[in-house]
Amino acid sequence: MENPDECGVDLTRCCYADLRGGTYRLAVLPWGATEPHNLHLPYLTDCLLAQSLAVDAAARLWRERRVRAVVLPPVTLGAQNPGQWDKPFCLHARYETQRAVLGDIVASLRRQGLSRLIVLNGHGGNSFRNMVRDLAFEYPDFLIAVSDSFGIVPQRDFFEERDDHAGEMETSLMMHYHPELVDIERAGDGRSEPFAVESLNDRTAWVPRDWNRVSEDTGIGNPLKSSPEKGARYAEAVVDRLVRLFADLAAPDGIYGERRPETDRF
Ligand SMILES: [Zn+2]
Repeated sequence: MENPDECGVDLTRCCYADLRGGTYRLAVLPWGATEPHNLHLPYLTDCLLAQSLAVDAAARLWRERRVRAVVLPPVTLGAQNPGQWDKPFCLHARYETQRAVLGDIVASLRRQGLSRLIVLNGHGGNSFRNMVRDLAFEYPDFLIAVSDSFGIVPQRDFFEERDDHAGEMETSLMMHYHPELVDIERAGDGRSEPFAVESLNDRTAWVPRDWNRVSEDTGIGNPLKSSPEKGARYAEAVVDRLVRLFADLAAPDGIYGERRPETDRF
């Protein structure tokens, strides 16, 4: 990982002296949750991973292309499932709350002259599309892109077992970025129960799963084959894609081709 301290891209660490007088086109907003992650990962795992991947990518973008994308501090309020929200200190944020938070962040950035934001989502329960449509209606000159950090690169080429929550992928990434926060000795096996009805297992329809009914340790996915090496390889693949995304959206060009330029505002 590049040293973000020298790059002025990580707003968690930057001071005003690093940023004053700079030219900025792109902000990145890591968005996670505050929730149990099996028995061995911190509540803030989704925030930490989205933030670490974003900072890693922004630092590389600055080093390699001298393009600055500033990574905002992560939003810790995620949408939770039944069962999970009954666990101590798990925080559930409603649509209206998340919409208000995102709206205030966009209004602040827009006031400062920025017009592009990437929401880098690290929590599977979050869904931003409708609120981004609302904000596009309200602010047609402000582009918001949403990316799920866990969905950019398929897991199957990097991990032995599929991770849904606190399994091999997240644990390996945490071992890579924040090894001091991983206590693998305490990890449960992350075994999960399927629904009793096939229509939900084959995804004919979706319901929010009751975490108490599907997992004993809150994990869904086995973390026991995790390693920092697997995490490093996967992080590199994700960051490659994020560097390209950040560069694409930081560029002054529009995101559309020549056709119908009269409606192309971005
Ligand atoms: Zn997670």
